Amino acid sequence: MDERTKKKVVIDAGHGGKDSGTVNNGIVEKDYTLKISKYIKKRLDELGIDSSLTRTGDELLDQSSRPQRAQSFYGKGDDVIIISNHLNAGGGDGAEIIYSLRNNDTLSKKIAQELENAGQNVRKYYQKRLPSNPSKDYYYLLRNTPNNETIIVEYGFTDSTGNDINLIKNKWESLAEAVVKAITSYLGVSYSQQGNNYYTVVKGDTLWSIARRYGITVDELKSANNLKSNLLSIGKKLMIPSNNVHIVKKGDTLYALAKEYNTTVSNLKKLNNLSSDLLSIGQKLFVK
Ligand SMILES: [Zn+2]
Repeated sequence: MDERTKKKVVIDAGHGGKDSGTVNNGIVEKDYTLKISKYIKKRLDELGIDSSLTRTGDELLDQSSRPQRAQSFYGKGDDVIIISNHLNAGGGDGAEIIYSLRNNDTLSKKIAQELENAGQNVRKYYQKRLPSNPSKDYYYLLRNTPNNETIIVEYGFTDSTGNDINLIKNKWESLAEAVVKAITSYLGVSYSQQGNNYYTVVKGDTLWSIARRYGITVDELKSANNLKSNLLSIGKKLMIPSNNVHIVKKGDTLYALAKEYNTTVSNLKKLNNLSSDLLSIGQKLFVK
């Protein structure tokens, strides 16, 4: 098993059913947490990270069924990350991330950084203790999902007097993408924007044949998928990196592109099976 498939992610859409969560300014928390969760799930699929959703529709999950559901997919190990998505209320502005007492702040810190990169201010990432028993987490999902790495992400305030309402309504995908970025970084999986291809290995495939088919090198294929050996198993999903394609625009020359992408003209020609130096506008070139 390679690194990227070692950890699993459960994505929890906060609230649901008759529990709407916070409702302000036309924002119903349970609907946004579901949209955000489904978005993260789709992106983790694209990136080849195993994940499951605690709910896929408008379903009520309570203090006992939610942790049970969260642990039903991959168990109770510390190799399972649970991201519980929420919106906040109470008149503040900005994101908050709460991580459990049994975990360190590494992933929460990354989420905070990526949310800031996405334009959201972060109030804090922190742990919160149960007043009646300070050895326990305050939030039930954190408390009741041992020994998973459980994190609550509050993306912003639905009653903010700052910019949160606009961010939630119009930039929720960027906020969700920030969490995707943080997860990939935390898991050591190479991050790429939407649009990557996935290829499922069939009988007879080799790394070489797949790399050739997509105009990339075996090394790129291996590094994109964190593969340590050349062995492939049938049914394995491989990410095909697509950030190495340049679409030729007016004025482009092989020489300029070679310089831009830190390669050579002969390498570009070899990668793209070009017999001449002529390029046509709109032509797709592999540049790495
Ligand atoms: Zn909530």
